[in-house]
Amino acid sequence: MPARPAPPSRSSRVASSGRRKAVDVFKFGGASLADAAAVRHAIDLILTPRPSPVVTVVSALAGVTDALLAMAESARTGDFRAADAAVDRLEARHVAVAEGIIPTRRARAALVKELEEAFAELRTLAHGVASLRELTPRTRDFLVARGEQLSARLVVAGMQARRAKAQYVEAAELIVTDGVFGNAFPDLAATDRRVRDRLAPLLRRRLMPVVPGFVGASPDGALVTLGRGGSDLTATVLGRALKAQRITLWKDVPGLMTTDPRLVPSARIVPQLNVREAAELAYYGAKVLHPRALIPLARIQVPVFVRPFAEPDAPGTEISTRHTLQRYPVKALSIVRGQALVTVTGNGMLGVPGIAARTFAALQQAGISVTLITQASSEHSISLCVPAERGAQARTALEDAFALEVARRELEGVEVQGGMATLAVVGLGMAGSPGIASRMFSSLSGARVNIVAIAQGSSELNISVVITEKDAEQAARAVHDEFQLDKIGGGGVRHDDRLDVVLLGVGQIGRELLRILPRTRRRVKPTIVGLIDRSGYLFNADGLSARQLLNAVTLKEQGASLMAIPGATKATAPEAVSQIARHALSRPVLVDLTADQTLPAIRKAITAEWDVVLANKKPLSASRVEVEALRALATQHGARILHETTVGAGLPVMDSYAKLVETGDKVLRIEGCTSGTLGFLLTEIGKGRPFSEALRDAMARGYTEPDPRDDLSGMDVARKALILARLIGFAGDLSDVTVESLVPEAFRSMPVARFKATLADQDAAWAARQAAATRQGRVLRYVLRATRTRVQVGLQAVPPSHPLAGLRGTDNQIVFTTMRYREHPLVITGPGAGPAVTAAGVLNDILQLTPA
Ligand code: ADP
Ligand code: ASP
Ligand code: MG
Repeated sequence: MPARPAPPSRSSRVASSGRRKAVDVFKFGGASLADAAAVRHAIDLILTPRPSPVVTVVSALAGVTDALLAMAESARTGDFRAADAAVDRLEARHVAVAEGIIPTRRARAALVKELEEAFAELRTLAHGVASLRELTPRTRDFLVARGEQLSARLVVAGMQARRAKAQYVEAAELIVTDGVFGNAFPDLAATDRRVRDRLAPLLRRRLMPVVPGFVGASPDGALVTLGRGGSDLTATVLGRALKAQRITLWKDVPGLMTTDPRLVPSARIVPQLNVREAAELAYYGAKVLHPRALIPLARIQVPVFVRPFAEPDAPGTEISTRHTLQRYPVKALSIVRGQALVTVTGNGMLGVPGIAARTFAALQQAGISVTLITQASSEHSISLCVPAERGAQARTALEDAFALEVARRELEGVEVQGGMATLAVVGLGMAGSPGIASRMFSSLSGARVNIVAIAQGSSELNISVVITEKDAEQAARAVHDEFQLDKIGGGGVRHDDRLDVVLLGVGQIGRELLRILPRTRRRVKPTIVGLIDRSGYLFNADGLSARQLLNAVTLKEQGASLMAIPGATKATAPEAVSQIARHALSRPVLVDLTADQTLPAIRKAITAEWDVVLANKKPLSASRVEVEALRALATQHGARILHETTVGAGLPVMDSYAKLVETGDKVLRIEGCTSGTLGFLLTEIGKGRPFSEALRDAMARGYTEPDPRDDLSGMDVARKALILARLIGFAGDLSDVTVESLVPEAFRSMPVARFKATLADQDAAWAARQAAATRQGRVLRYVLRATRTRVQVGLQAVPPSHPLAGLRGTDNQIVFTTMRYREHPLVITGPGAGPAVTAAGVLNDILQLTPA
C-alpha cells in the first residue's frame, strides 16, 4: 500500500528535550490491526521518511481485548478448558502474525519463542484465576494489558527486521494514573515528567519508541487499564507530554464522521472539528474516540488527526482549536445504545435539598457512570441514564441513599426503564443559532420517534435526548437528515430553488443542452454545477459561471478535453461523481450524454441519491442482471432514472408508454423504425438511388457514425429494441436479440477506408433487394419488433398500408399495439435524431425532475 507522510506539517517546534524536532505521535487502532499484512502496513507508515521522529502507540490486535476479557471470565467461573482454548487461539494468532512479518528464520524463531513464553505465563495466570474462582479488577487489568504489550512487541520486532532502530517502552514506566482498575485516568503532571525523562533520551539517540496503548501504572506500581478504547488516551497523553506537532490516530474509518457510519450510511467525513466539539462527541459516546481522550489536550495546542489506515493519502479529520464549517450549527451526532433511564420521583423533591448532588454521589460511590441527567421543570422528578447492565445496581444505590425520604414518603421511589438509547447532537454553532432543539424534536416526531427525556448540556454544545433503543437507527437518520449532515465537507447547504445538473459527456448534444438550458422558464432553474468528460471534471458547487461554460463549449468544439480548462480535476467518471457528491448539492441530477458504458458512474450517482437522466443507451442495454440491480439500487435510494431520449430522441416514446400503463392499458407489442440513418438510406434507395450514393450522401450530412458500419450493423437499433422490450417484461439480454446486419460478411472486418472505397460493390445486391420489394408493391424498412418473449431487428418489406411504410427520411416511428389500441395501434412519428431534438428531449427529462 502507498504510504505518505501526514498532512502538511506546521513549522516544527522545539521539543522540551532541546534541539530536536517536535515529534509525531502515531496510534494504530485495534480495528486496523487485523493480521500480518496490517501490521506490515502499520510499519510502512511508521518508517515512511519524514522530517519529524515518530513515537508509536499500538492497540491490541483486532478482537484481542475482547478475547482476553472473555478468557478471564471463563477462568473466573473455573472453566479451565475454555480458558486454555482461548489462550491457545490467541497464541496461534500472534504466532501467525510474527511469521508473517519477520522474514529471517533466526529472528522469527526468537520472536516466536518470546511469544510462547508470554503465553505460557498467561496460561499459568489463567489457571490461578480458575483455581481460586476469583477475578479481582486488578488481576483482570493485568491479564488484559497483555493484548497491547504483545502487539507492541510484534511491531518492534517487525521494525527491527527492517533495520529500524525501534525500542519497546513499557507503558507503566510512562503513564502514572489514579489507579482505578478498568478505567484509570492519568495523573497528567506526573506523566508529563516521566514521559520526558524516559523518551527524550531515546529520541536523542534516534531510537523510535513503541508503546503499548491502553495501559498505565497505579500509584503503587500495578498495571491498570484506561478503559475501553484507551489507546487513544495513551496517544494524547504522550502527545501532550512531548508537545508533539501532531497526533495521528490511524483507524478503520475515513475520519471522524458525522455519525457512526455503521448506523447511518450517509454519514460523512467532518474535515475539521473543534477540540471542544470532538471532546463532547467522545464524551457522549461516539465510539471513534475514547471518552476522555481529549482532556489531556485541553489547554495545549496539539492537533489530532483521525485518519484512514487503509488510505494513508486521505486527509481524514483534523481536530484542532479552529472553528470551521460555521454554516453547520450541528456537526455530528452520537448514539449510545444499551442504556437504562433511572427516574427518582416525588413530591418532596422541591423541599429536599441537594437531591441531584446526592443522586450523583450515590452513583459515583457505586462506580456507575452517568451519561445524561435531566430534571423536569416542575422539579418533580430527576432522570438520568446509566448503562443498562448497571440499572439494578443504580436502583439499589439510590434506594439506599434516599431510604429516609422514601420512608417519609417525600420520595415515591426509584424507577428503572431498560432498553433505552441516548442521541446527542453536537456543534459549537448551536449556541448562536436559535431553534436547534425544535428542529431536532420535530424531525424526530416526523420519524415517529418518541422522545422519553431531553437534556441540554450546560455547555450549549450539545442537546441530548433519550429514546427507546429500537428507534435508535431511525432517529439517527432523521436528525442526520434534518441538519443536512450528509452535505458536510464542502459547498454549503441545499437551496430549495435549485436543481443541480452534472453533465457526463460534453459532445454535440451536451453543448446544445448548455445553449438551451438558460432559456427554461421555471421557478426552479436547472444549474450546471459540473461537467465530466473522459479526462476529468470541472465543478463549482455554486454553479459553473457562464464564462466557464462558454470556455468549455469552445474547447470541446475544438476537440480539446476538459483538463485544458484551469481548475479542472483529473478523474475517471465514477471518481468525479463521488468527489462531486461530497458537496452540498440541491436535487442533483447526473445527465449522461456519452455513448460509453457508464454504469459505474451511474451507480455512484444513485448511491449518493442523485437522479439520473440518460440519453446514453449502453447502461440500460447492459446485461439484465446489471440493469435489474441498477433499478433496485435506484429504488433503495429513492433515485429516479429518466431516459426518454434513449429511443426516438425527443419523441415522447417513454412518456407515452408510461401514460398507457398508468391508465391501466397493457402493451402487447412494440414495433418501429428507430434509426434515422437507416431510414434516410432506405428512403433514398427506394427512390432508385444506388446504395453507395445514398450512403455517401448520409455521411456527408453527418447522419452516420464515423464508421457507417456501426449504423448498418443494426446494433444501435438492437439496443433500442432491448430497452423497449424490457419495458414490457422481456427478460433477455442483448445477445438474445435477433439482429440482421446490413453489412455483408465480406465487408465486416476490413478497414474503414477500404469499406468506404468499395461501397459500389454492394450496389447490385441492394438494387436486387429493392426490385424484389417493388415487385410485391412493398417498401423496405429496417424494423424493430419487440414482445415480452421475442425481440428482432432487421430489414423488412412492409405493405403500403403499414404505418411504417409512410415514413420519410430520417423520421422515426414507434408503434404500440396494446389492449386498447389493438385494431389501430398507437403511432408516434417525428424526427428521431439530431442534437437539437435530442437536447430538447433531455431538457424535458430534467424539467420532469424539477418542481414546477
Ligand atoms: P480504533 O481501531 O482506533 O480503536 P475504534 O474501533 O475505537 O477505532 O473506532 C472506530 C469505530 O468507531 C468505527 O468502526 C465506527 O463504526 C465507530 N464510530 C462511531 N461513531 C463514529 C463517528 N462519528 N465517526 C467515525 N467512526 C465512528
Ligand atoms: N484494546 C483496547 C480496547 O479494545 C484499547 C484500544 O484499542 O484502544 O478497548
Ligand atoms: Mg478504539
